[in-house]
Amino acid sequence: MIEMKGVSKVYHTGAKPALQDINLKIDGGEFVFLVGPSGAGKTTLIRLIFCEQAPTSGRISFLGRDTSTYKPGELLQHRRRMGMVFQDFRLLKSKTVFENVAFALEVVGRSPKEIQKRVPLALEQVGLSGKENAFPGELSGGEQQRVGIARALVREPLVLLADEPTGNLDPDISRQLMELFDQINRNGTTVIIATHAWDLVDQMQKRVIALEGGRIIRDEQRGYYRNEH
Ligand code: ADP
Repeated sequence: MIEMKGVSKVYHTGAKPALQDINLKIDGGEFVFLVGPSGAGKTTLIRLIFCEQAPTSGRISFLGRDTSTYKPGELLQHRRRMGMVFQDFRLLKSKTVFENVAFALEVVGRSPKEIQKRVPLALEQVGLSGKENAFPGELSGGEQQRVGIARALVREPLVLLADEPTGNLDPDISRQLMELFDQINRNGTTVIIATHAWDLVDQMQKRVIALEGGRIIRDEQRGYYRNEH
């Protein structure tokens, strides 16, 4: 589904590359953890997959298509096939839970009828039925992130990208959210998560791609956060 060949990313001429010579293939339906110290290149890799940034060199293809050949409309379509979840949730504080999730559909021009149908389904999927009229400030951190996940899911993305989704949450809540990501993945969505939650990575036994200094230093099925296993 996603393939990178010799991909490098340099943000500013002369700066150390954020990514160097990345070669990887992620199939549809996979669950992948991106791990590595701060500055290793995890966020950059997610941005490249989202096509928010273009690589400095190398090639990225999505569903067999070289993403550098996208026309502007295709670039939009690519992004709409991805759901994004952030560490800081990025909810609109003045909108209710329902409105936050609905907004993801409004901006892509879906009809009110479709919005009325899809938003409750997305909220049900993340376990937030009944919280439609709450405002983000009335929810716990874990619930707010569930809204963030519902917002990403409501457009039925092919790929769910999450950058440190549990970075602001305590261990129990983090575990529950990882179980939710796992469930979403079992329903067929490809899931790619950058995380420092080493204990959860070790428990979940998923593919682990470890980055360091912009390079892939390890790529293992049923891998661990660190190498010494
Ligand atoms: P991680 O997510 O693993 O912490 P990042 O992808 O954020 O790593 O960063 C990789 C490298 O790229 C770091 O050296 C970082 O300082 C640099 N970097 C990231 N984003 C930018 C940017 N927008 N402009 C310039 N340098 C950046």
